[in-house]
Amino acid sequence: MTSRAPQRVIFCDFDGTITENDNIVAIIKHFNPPGWEAIVNDIVGQRKTIRQGVGELFQLLPSSMKREVVDYAISNATIRAGFADLLQYCKDHDIEFYVTSGGIDFFVYPLLAQFNIPENHIYCNGSDFSGEQIAITWPHPCEGECKTDCGMCKTTIIRRFPKSQYERILIGDSVTDFEGAKLADVVFARSHLTQKCKELGLSYHEFKTFHDVIDVLKLQEATT
Ligand SMILES: [Mg+2]
Ligand SMILES: [Zn+2]
Repeated sequence: MTSRAPQRVIFCDFDGTITENDNIVAIIKHFNPPGWEAIVNDIVGQRKTIRQGVGELFQLLPSSMKREVVDYAISNATIRAGFADLLQYCKDHDIEFYVTSGGIDFFVYPLLAQFNIPENHIYCNGSDFSGEQIAITWPHPCEGECKTDCGMCKTTIIRRFPKSQYERILIGDSVTDFEGAKLADVVFARSHLTQKCKELGLSYHEFKTFHDVIDVLKLQEATT
């Protein structure tokens, strides 16, 4: 009998992880509609659910600003160093790679277009510009055990990859990753997520670029 190493699968956040900064916060800060700061503080402080807070933030912006909002989001974002190398590493080493983003389709898909990630490996929220104000849509809501009202529910997706068959690796930076980090076998963290992991006593690898992530994956490869 040979025992096979579990299939590795990565769940990678988008805002503040694949991109250097949080695009939702950047958009709202830039257009600066009255009342946004209290909402952001309530999301970060976990007094509002992510779905509720993000929905409220975009409701502050009129749909007539679509072009400006989309253009700003896309031109403002910077992809974190090493991302293309991580994707290549995953291909070469048979690691499944999913983008699990609390971000919005109108910036997530255009910013990822150059990387040729299959569309069914990208999970994010949707948007609807047909009303007066921008509405966010939620095609991937919490199912089953998750009662967190995530919006795009990372744990719902992670649970589709059972622990018995997969080594589940989460890469993230902030509040949309807190629940997933509790479930994952390996966590790569920066920013608020490192703080949360410390609070919860979860072990994590801190990263600044995706080269840091690759270095740890290589070490794991060498020891299994
Ligand atoms: Mg993030
Ligand atoms: Zn959820």
